[in-house]
Amino acid sequence: MSRGAAGPEIERLIQLLARLPGLGPRSARRAALHLVKKREQLLGPLSDAMHAAHERIVTCDDCGNIDTANPCGICRDARRDPSIIVVVADVADLWALERSAAIDARYHVLGGVLSALDGIRPENLSIDRLIERVSQGDVKELILALNATVDGQTTAHYLTDRLAHLPVKVTRLAHGVPVGGELDYLDDGTLAAAIRQRTGF
Ligand code: ZN
Repeated sequence: MSRGAAGPEIERLIQLLARLPGLGPRSARRAALHLVKKREQLLGPLSDAMHAAHERIVTCDDCGNIDTANPCGICRDARRDPSIIVVVADVADLWALERSAAIDARYHVLGGVLSALDGIRPENLSIDRLIERVSQGDVKELILALNATVDGQTTAHYLTDRLAHLPVKVTRLAHGVPVGGELDYLDDGTLAAAIRQRTGF
């Protein structure tokens, strides 16, 4: 632990910033200093935005998306096709697909993928809720938009088995997703192509 040149409040800010993905201790220190220097334009508004987010953000009971309303804006959007559900592992993947603007469908966020290594089992994911949504009848196609990793594909196979008795077409992303690739890191064009050229599972 370094001797803090700054007061305890600023050291605390640095420690918290250092926990963000992509920020090590050095960049956290730089970010904290920037915030402190720009406290009127940046630190104040950021603090207000974080407080508002903390107060209002909820997880959608239907799809698992994060929003300030439950059901979320996507589930309530009447212009979207309710017969297609895009299944993703994480909210970050949902956001990536929305950025690509490739499809006007609903989503289902699993909350992760199956992983023997990390001890993630079916009951740890939002799979029962997905089956329930599909069983309600209006869904004609499920697009499994999962990472092209071993765990992602294991999860896709597991879901396909669980859905086999239901009258729903199961498709998955096709071209463009590199093996081992994570959706959140793909450019919008690649992701759009992958979802348009989806194939039967
Ligand atoms: Zn929702």
